Amino acid sequence: MCAAARSAEQGNPFSCAACGYTHYFSPFTAVGALIVDEQEQMLFIVRGKDPGKGKLGLPGGFVDAGEMAEQALVREIREEVGLEIVRYEFLASFPNSYAFSGVICPVTDLFFVAHVASLSNFQLQEGEIDDWKLLPVANVGPQDLAFDTHWKAIQAYAGQRNGEPRT
Ligand SMILES: [Zn+2]
Repeated sequence: MCAAARSAEQGNPFSCAACGYTHYFSPFTAVGALIVDEQEQMLFIVRGKDPGKGKLGLPGGFVDAGEMAEQALVREIREEVGLEIVRYEFLASFPNSYAFSGVICPVTDLFFVAHVASLSNFQLQEGEIDDWKLLPVANVGPQDLAFDTHWKAIQAYAGQRNGEPRT
């Protein structure tokens, strides 16, 4: 704010010794969708770029400023895989991190169980995604996924399906 030279010390919040300006490094918000077909197979994308290039992920993305997380969910699924969400339920949230131009930023991942009108309209976004797969949840392990939070969300979904209490 005041253009004073920054001291070497880092922290959250960051406070400027010269002018007192304080900046909080709050998490970004991201959404992910768990979309399951009639055969209980879950929709995964194969990531086309790092982090996790070549690994599986749940479709989703970042919430824009001024946007509802629910709107971001519908928008991202439409943009990323060309599917129209007709109904969704909040599942769970998990803390994550993401490197923006080499800077590790905290992220809050919000996961929704999403229902689509039809999986037949599937259309992949060029560049971002290499491929997609419908897989039984039991066939997917943490080593297959680009993000640990996606694995946690899948476990939360499986637990809910098995009638385990929410934690
Ligand atoms: Zn300052």
